[in-house]
Amino acid sequence: MTLRLHNTLTGTKDVFEPLDDSHVRMYTCGPTVWNFAHIGNLRAFLFYDLLRRHLQVAGFRVTHVMNITDIDDRILDQAMHAGTTIAEYTKPYAEAFLADMKTLRAQPAEQYPRATEHIEEMIRMISTLLERGNAYVADGDVYFRIASFPRYGELSHLDREGLRAGVRVARGGRGQKGSARPAHGGEAPPIRQDRYDKESVSDFALWKKSQPVDEEIGAAWDAPFGKGRPGWHIECSAMSKRYLGDTLDIHAGGVDLMFPHHENEIAQSEAANHRQFSRFWLHSEHLADATGEKMSKSAGGFTTLRDLLAAGHDPIAIRFFLIANAHYRSRVRLSDEALHAAGEQVRRLQDFARRLQQPVAPKDGGRLAERVAEVRHAYREALDDDLNLPQGMGHVFDLLREANAALDSGGVGEAAARELLLLMADVDAHVDVVTARDMALAGEVEQLIAQREAARKARDFATADRIRDELRARGIALEDSKEGVRWRRIAKV
Ligand SMILES: [Zn+2]
Repeated sequence: MTLRLHNTLTGTKDVFEPLDDSHVRMYTCGPTVWNFAHIGNLRAFLFYDLLRRHLQVAGFRVTHVMNITDIDDRILDQAMHAGTTIAEYTKPYAEAFLADMKTLRAQPAEQYPRATEHIEEMIRMISTLLERGNAYVADGDVYFRIASFPRYGELSHLDREGLRAGVRVARGGRGQKGSARPAHGGEAPPIRQDRYDKESVSDFALWKKSQPVDEEIGAAWDAPFGKGRPGWHIECSAMSKRYLGDTLDIHAGGVDLMFPHHENEIAQSEAANHRQFSRFWLHSEHLADATGEKMSKSAGGFTTLRDLLAAGHDPIAIRFFLIANAHYRSRVRLSDEALHAAGEQVRRLQDFARRLQQPVAPKDGGRLAERVAEVRHAYREALDDDLNLPQGMGHVFDLLREANAALDSGGVGEAAARELLLLMADVDAHVDVVTARDMALAGEVEQLIAQREAARKARDFATADRIRDELRARGIALEDSKEGVRWRRIAKV
């Protein structure tokens, strides 16, 4: 089996092998905790989860580092308005992010480094860039000198024609259809803000001089080049080096981070370390809202996981929608209907897995076992082809129809049943939704059964009956047996 991943650097699907045998070093850009993560961010974060799970399926050990940006312009503004420190301000949002990841069943990364806890590493890297002439101080701020890094723009395939060597120029868009402005060659001022015009290439801030108020809100640090705080880009370069070394196997992020954030990370890291920064770059597409517009926090009116849960959507359906509805490199539109459809697909998978738990009739399954083996192979091939989970799931749902029909007509045979269980395990290694609800449900049901037993012992039959009726209303029937009370699913009444 050969794993191919679409590498933004080369623009092609390349065979993936880590540098170091069987160990993958992966860095993914995490949340800026100035607010709750919106569901578009969560799509990117679940794409990281799919990626790390498939790397494990492919036999690799994965060390995954995901930063938490707990200092940036917006955080400073918000903390100032709230009259608190940036640490106090960001704390609940950082916790909410980790809770969201858990709710959506993302495997935890090995490290979640926070920017404010790695200022020393950033200062060290900035010092190196200053010594080497890749950075300069201007009015107390430190900027990266783009002209010192001729490869700048290679990741996002910037139109080099528009860039004039050695000058800071405002230039046309990065290959957007019809929108390329002619380079006008005028000097663009260095960029101090964390968020800025994505259409221009400009020296960017590595370090920003402190304002008096920064100190009051705990956002100022001493450095050889003056008291200040780090820019956004340097944190990823410094923290990935700290935990994963100079060269990463994979760096991933949302497509909106490709330029300028990832270009800037490459420029800083390669200028400081003199090594290739990341061998593979993976970018996931946007999640669009119902009107087709990109969902974005700064545009206002964004949807969070909390909003969707409050509207009654099941987290498992949300997870399945975000990873399996569309390939990670295509846009997907969020809507109630799409979430309901995803919930329905999850239910079909779970119902099918449950049917497989029933005793198998000793029946010749005919060609079914062979067919399931073929689908297992096709599913794996789809995932090995740049994580094409939607295609893999297409094979699985086709097969489910056939297998359900076979089960309806008396059984599937032992060999086929065994293969089907393996297939469901293959699928759950990525989607992790098949057994999820049953496990949660089982715990709850067992508790209610224990309460009912206690009530019966106390001869409180009214309570015992109430619990039994409540379970029945939820589609659970109880049966008394010699081994105690057993439960099974029935149609909801
Ligand atoms: Zn980053």
